[in-house]
Amino acid sequence: MRKPIIAGNWKMNKTAAEAQAFVEAVKNAIPSNEAVDSVIGSPTLYLEKMVSDREGTELKVAAQNCYFEDAGAFTGEVSPNALGDLGVDYVIIGHSERREYFHETDEDINKKAHAIFRNGMIPIVCCGETLEQREAGETAEWIKGQITNALKDLTEGQVSELVIAYEPIWAIGTGKSSSAEEADETCGVVRETVRELYNGATADAVRIQYGGSVKPENIAEYMAKSNIDGALVGGASLEAESFLKLLEAV
Ligand code: 13P
Repeated sequence: MRKPIIAGNWKMNKTAAEAQAFVEAVKNAIPSNEAVDSVIGSPTLYLEKMVSDREGTELKVAAQNCYFEDAGAFTGEVSPNALGDLGVDYVIIGHSERREYFHETDEDINKKAHAIFRNGMIPIVCCGETLEQREAGETAEWIKGQITNALKDLTEGQVSELVIAYEPIWAIGTGKSSSAEEADETCGVVRETVRELYNGATADAVRIQYGGSVKPENIAEYMAKSNIDGALVGGASLEAESFLKLLEAV
């Protein structure tokens, strides 16, 4: 039985005071992590404070990106070694916004996945197709390719532990969510790809999230699907009340 994982992705939002107020507002209401993993993906600037503010609670903290080298002459980059050392739990990698605006490739994402494991954290690996690809019937092939490249040379144990977030690009921040059936079908493609690359036990263990206009009103439909183990949520994770409602729906 896979444990559900609900992760908020704040993207480039909030001030330090707002991040602090959010943790204050949710910290006594986070469900036990025996039932669900509750994660917030915060901007890099607030990670250290988030990690200390959430102490004694079941709230997990994610970075939204990192570099694939641990240290060196990489001006402006975020070290996975420093993130691990701070006590960050997860790192979101390969988000479509990073692929589109910051030209991240599948190869970068694979190197980042290795770096995240090397530093004791868990990657949340994003994949997803454009509207043009969906309309051209290319979704399954595309997703298979993204997953195959992202997971290259990871061990069975690592893949069993990581999280894959399927986010159709056309459903992100548009209010146009994928139907639960469509989302489940493509999450099934992700799981099948893991089965082909590894084996049944690894495919059964890997947790797959749906992301794209998930909100308290529709999360239950997704969670009811057999291949969907959680959600990666942008807009609806920004307010404490809404984030808690997402957790309650699990
Ligand atoms: P929205 O939930 O705002 O559509 O964003 C989804 C997303 O990109 C989460 O990573």
